[in-house]
Amino acid sequence: MNHQKLIQIKTNGESIPKADLEALISAYTNNEINDREMTPFLKAVYKQGMTDEEIFTLTEVMLNSGERIQFSGLDSYIADKHSTGGVGDKISIILAPILAAAGLAIPMLSGRSLGHTGGTVDKLETIPGLETNLSIQQFKDNVKNHGLCMMSQTENICPADRKIYALRDVTGTIDSIPLICGSIMSKKIAEGIQGLVLDIKTGNGAFMKTLEDAALLGKMLQKVGEAFGVKTDVIYSSMNQPLGSTAGMWCEIQESIDALKGHGRKDVMGVVYELGGKLLVQAGITRSESAAVSIQENLINSGKAYAKFEEMITAQNGDLSNLNKVNQPLFEIIVPAKTSGYVESMDTLNIGWAGVELGCGRRQKNDILDPTAGIEFLAKIGDEVTAGDPLFRCFNSDKNKLNSALNYIKNSVIIGPEKLSHTLFFNA
Ligand code: URA
Repeated sequence: MNHQKLIQIKTNGESIPKADLEALISAYTNNEINDREMTPFLKAVYKQGMTDEEIFTLTEVMLNSGERIQFSGLDSYIADKHSTGGVGDKISIILAPILAAAGLAIPMLSGRSLGHTGGTVDKLETIPGLETNLSIQQFKDNVKNHGLCMMSQTENICPADRKIYALRDVTGTIDSIPLICGSIMSKKIAEGIQGLVLDIKTGNGAFMKTLEDAALLGKMLQKVGEAFGVKTDVIYSSMNQPLGSTAGMWCEIQESIDALKGHGRKDVMGVVYELGGKLLVQAGITRSESAAVSIQENLINSGKAYAKFEEMITAQNGDLSNLNKVNQPLFEIIVPAKTSGYVESMDTLNIGWAGVELGCGRRQKNDILDPTAGIEFLAKIGDEVTAGDPLFRCFNSDKNKLNSALNYIKNSVIIGPEKLSHTLFFNA
C-alpha cells in the first residue's frame, strides 16, 4: 500500500496492518519518504492514537533500525531506570551506583535536557574530563568491568527514533502516548536489559499533568516492556515541586555526591529507594521492598555506593579531585518571599523554565549550557516563611540570563495560611 493510503487510514482512525506500518517507518528512516510526507502521519497518530499492536510494531521497527546491545557471559541482572523528566531529577546519578554496588549491571543511556526539564547527560558532563560519547564496545566493557556506565544515546541505537523524534519536535507531536512509548522503549530495549523501572512524573512540572494521563502512559510503557521480554515496574511520583534542594547543572552533581555520602534529602532518597527497591526485588536480591531500602542504606553508609560512583567516573576519564573549585558561578541572586505564611504550591514548570534561562537547558538545539548554572530551593511546600525570607538562590555566570530567569521564578510560589503537605507518590 502506498504511504498516502496508509496516512489516510490513520487519519480515518483505523489501524494500519503490521507489514504496512513497518514499511512506512522504514521508508522514512531510509529517506524514501520525506519530512513533508511523514508529517501528516505523525499528526494523525497524535490525534487518533494507535492500537497496542501498532505501538508494539512501531517499537520493534525503531528497535531494529539500529544496533541492539547484547551482554553475553554476564551473570549479573542487567537493568535500567527511566524517568519521564522533571526539575531537579537527579535520581539516576544516585541510583545507578547504588544498584551497581548491589551487584546489578546498569547500562544507562541517558538523555539531554528536553523543554523545561534537565538532562542527566548534561549534568554529568559538568564533571571535568568525563566522556559521555563512548563507543558501544567501551560502554559494554565498562558495564562488564565496573557494573555500570552512563552515557548519551549513540547514533547507532534506534536511528529511526532519532529521525522521528526530530520531526515530532518541530511538528507539535511530542506529547503523544504511542509515540512516546515507541521512542522510550525502543531505546531501553536496545540496551540489552532484563529489567526496567519507570518513574512516571506527574504534576505541574511534568509532561503528564494529570494522574490519568500518567497512568495511561505508565501502563502502556509497561505493556511494551513486557511484550519485549523486559520485566517492567512503574512508579508514579510527584513533580508538583522540584526534587531535592537544587535543579541545574554541577549543583545537581554536588547534591548527588552528598546523597551518595549519606546526606540526601528525604524526597530524593524516597524516590531513589522506591525505584531501587523494585529492581532489587526483580533481580532476586531480596523479596521485600522494605529490606531493599535497608540494603540501599547500607550501601550508602558503608561508602560502597560512593566508591562505585567514583569508579564509574574514573572509568569514563572524569576528574573528581577539585570538587570545591570547579564550576563556581560568578553571579547569584536571592528571590525573597513577598508575604508571610506557608509555601502552599510551587509552579514547577516556570521554575524549570527559569533554569533553562539560567543556562541549564536549550531553547535551540545548539544552545551552549552553563555548567555553573542552577537554582537552590530554600523553602518548599509546607515550609513556613516570613516576608523577606529567601525562597530561591539562582546562580550562573551570565548576568543577563540571571535577570531574565527572575521573570520566570519571581511569581512561582504561592504562600498562604495553610500548612499543606506534599505527596511524593501516587497510586494509579
Ligand atoms: N523521551 C524520549 O526518549 N522520547 C520521547 O518521546 C519522550 C521522552
